[in-house]
Amino acid sequence: MSVWEENDEIKIFREYLQIPSVHPNVDYVTEPCVAFIIKQAESLVLPYKISRPGGEDQPIVIITWLGIDPELPSIMLNSHMDVVSVYPEKWSHPPFAAEIDSEGRIFARGAQDMKSIGMQYLAAIRALKKDGVTLKRTIHVTFVPDEESGGKLGMDKFVQTDDFKNLNVGFSLDEGRATPDEAFNVNYSERTMWRLHLKISGSTGHGSLLHENTAGCKLNFLLEKLMNLRQQQVDRLKNDQNLTTGDVMTINLTKVNGGVQVNVVPSMIVAVFDIRIPHTMNHEALDKQIRTWCNEAGGVEVFYELKEPKNEPTKLDASNIFWTAFKSAFEEMGLKMRLLITPGGTDSRYLRKLGIPALGFGPMNFTPTLLHANDEFLKAENYLKGIEIYKTIIPKLANA
Ligand code: ZN
Repeated sequence: MSVWEENDEIKIFREYLQIPSVHPNVDYVTEPCVAFIIKQAESLVLPYKISRPGGEDQPIVIITWLGIDPELPSIMLNSHMDVVSVYPEKWSHPPFAAEIDSEGRIFARGAQDMKSIGMQYLAAIRALKKDGVTLKRTIHVTFVPDEESGGKLGMDKFVQTDDFKNLNVGFSLDEGRATPDEAFNVNYSERTMWRLHLKISGSTGHGSLLHENTAGCKLNFLLEKLMNLRQQQVDRLKNDQNLTTGDVMTINLTKVNGGVQVNVVPSMIVAVFDIRIPHTMNHEALDKQIRTWCNEAGGVEVFYELKEPKNEPTKLDASNIFWTAFKSAFEEMGLKMRLLITPGGTDSRYLRKLGIPALGFGPMNFTPTLLHANDEFLKAENYLKGIEIYKTIIPKLANA
């Protein structure tokens, strides 16, 4: 037995990891995660509430640590209970056993994304309470479902409810990715998502002839324009060491549909693109450019399956007292920070849309980035260090 297995916080973390809250069939009905989290609230002697804005089978658990001044806007510490699917045969340890190896690596789906963070919030609160600490602002530790399928039945619904409004959230902390080096990633913005369908119609006829204005010719024209745009972003990323994927626009052809028979020129081809745009770019100019190209091609209908309004970033200046508090915690601990625009999506975007500042952070440095990967693990040592980090960050935010 490794030394880590005796540690009470590691025991709690592993117990949570052993609940297979895995997509596509997350068991929110018998709710083993909810029961486990309620047990944690009870052991902390903290009140909890369950909200179900996304349906009976989409529970959100809110654990509350009341501040001395509960009228002040509160701090929300959010995590999602669900995890992505696994290929167990590709894992060297069973993905829901939370086994610890001789190096203290705890293997489980959710070890990084993000059952660790949810339990670290609670562990830090346990330690603060034990030290007799009281905080100015109220803390709400929230556990949400459905993040891994986009949060539509989780955070997106929740922020529209009175249950959420009653929390009076002034700032939110949510997930961030592990980093292999010393610096911790802190996400302050998310790219805006567009799902673009180009419905390209053209002249049809026998496949043995050379018709003009076929859907194929038009697709070729549009693909060249859009792939050139993509290449510009590839080059930007390659030529500037300071940029990460979140800083550039990604544009990918993800689906092509059309045609009925190999010797018939199709009357319609539909090309679908996944486009993600940072807040630093001019979104409307891009839309205009796409429409101009489609007009040039002729006979192309532009349809957005999804066209998010521009996601505004969380302010990183003195006007945001929570940013100042968060930064000062890092300075006090002598930790390095790397500010990022998240390449993927997290629940933080639903808060930012309401104008609530939100940061994404996971206290996992010197750790390979293994979210959604095989053999996802977190070292026990990093996990415990993370609790100490939250023990500094949480009072700074709550006393801001
Ligand atoms: Zn996550």
